[in-house]
Amino acid sequence: MPRRATKRGAQRTPLSADCDVLICGASFAGLAVARELSDSGARVMVVDRYEIGERQTSACGIPTLWLEALGLQEALQQTFDELVIHTPHATVRYDLPWTFSTFDYRTLCGLLADQAAFRFETAKVNGRTGFTVHTDRGDIRAPLIVDALGWRRVLGAGENVQPPDALLSRGLEVHPFGSGSEMEIWIDRSYVPAGYGWSFPADAELRIGVGSFDPRFHVREPTVKLAEDLKAETVRYQGNWIPHALRDATQDGVFFAGDSAGHCLPLTAEGIRTALYFGIACGRELRAVHVGHQTREQALARYHAFSASHALPFRWMLRVQRLIPRVPPRVLGASLGVIDRRRFIDWAFGHYLEVAHPRFVEQRTPTSASRKAVAA
Ligand SMILES: Cc1cc2nc3c(=O)[nH]c(=O)nc-3n(C[C@H](O)[C@H](O)[C@H](O)COP(=O)(O)OP(=O)(O)OC[C@H]3O[C@@H](n4cnc5c(N)ncnc54)[C@H](O)[C@@H]3O)c2cc1C
Repeated sequence: MPRRATKRGAQRTPLSADCDVLICGASFAGLAVARELSDSGARVMVVDRYEIGERQTSACGIPTLWLEALGLQEALQQTFDELVIHTPHATVRYDLPWTFSTFDYRTLCGLLADQAAFRFETAKVNGRTGFTVHTDRGDIRAPLIVDALGWRRVLGAGENVQPPDALLSRGLEVHPFGSGSEMEIWIDRSYVPAGYGWSFPADAELRIGVGSFDPRFHVREPTVKLAEDLKAETVRYQGNWIPHALRDATQDGVFFAGDSAGHCLPLTAEGIRTALYFGIACGRELRAVHVGHQTREQALARYHAFSASHALPFRWMLRVQRLIPRVPPRVLGASLGVIDRRRFIDWAFGHYLEVAHPRFVEQRTPTSASRKAVAA
């Protein structure tokens, strides 16, 4: 796990600032927004309670194509062209039509930050009044504010829905030293009644964890059990809540990207590429505002509609997420074996990638969003 580098005590000086775009959260979504604004000329400020890349927020598995599209290959650790799924009654191996890779969180965040231009401050965001964001170091004002703070949706208006009532899953993993060559998934009720376990090798480390779709089900014991079954040490824990339903991507004049907007995919809990994808979309709209090609209100409406236009695949994946725990394990094992057909796998994984395809990165032209806005 990265060591703590956040400024503390006397180093945590008072902060008062004005900027054109304030991005709260310096992980996948926040840094993707900033990257998209890199040559816009906007005074961009990014705040996070930790230094960039200091606190890993996931197992860091992503379609390799996304790393390539963003020029982040330097962060890549291991690549897998096969997904191994274990159920109590069968193990199946799917040849993937595109590969998955694990990456180093600190390196990736550093690379993304290098592609952007912004002022960074470590500060804990506590809330907002209109276009002023309150942090533990002082207030920051901006006409364009992005909440990329994760599932808590700190800058949302009104009372926030908290777990276990919110539409959230929970995930926990350990990071023992070790090596492996397979990306493995366990759909096994002896670990978790509704959810799955995983082991993602990343060079000299394994990321072994369990996710539960039911937020009331605690995952510490199952994570320990899975790690012990794999003869791995239960060290360096990392866990969080994971949204599994889309939320409004704009509210009360604020833009939300990544987990704060529920952009993590249900069923697989894959939320990195979607955080990047929607972060890019958000950054494009903000950019068009800054260069004067659309108003803030137009940007809010367009980004809101863009996010909402993805509701269908999110709904379908949530349905399957709810269905799988009801399928008897023997039937599930047999079904997974039957669907191991090249054409079906290509079709299913192809559609899955389409939900947030890496070609979206290429579709950027400096003023693509603004041109469309002007034409509209
Ligand atoms: C155990 C686990 C494993 C996972 N594995 C994968 C995986 O392999 N692949 C995948 O695609 N997805 C995975 N996910 C999901 C993925 O981690 C999230 O969907 C993704 O991190 C969302 O990115 P984000 O930028 O929206 O939010 P986050 O990555 O959560 O970043 C939020 C940022 O905001 C900062 N922050 C939060 N609150 C405050 C505050 N009040 N003030 C200041 N800063 C604040 C945090 O420090 C952080 O930097 C996993 C999740 C879990 C829990």
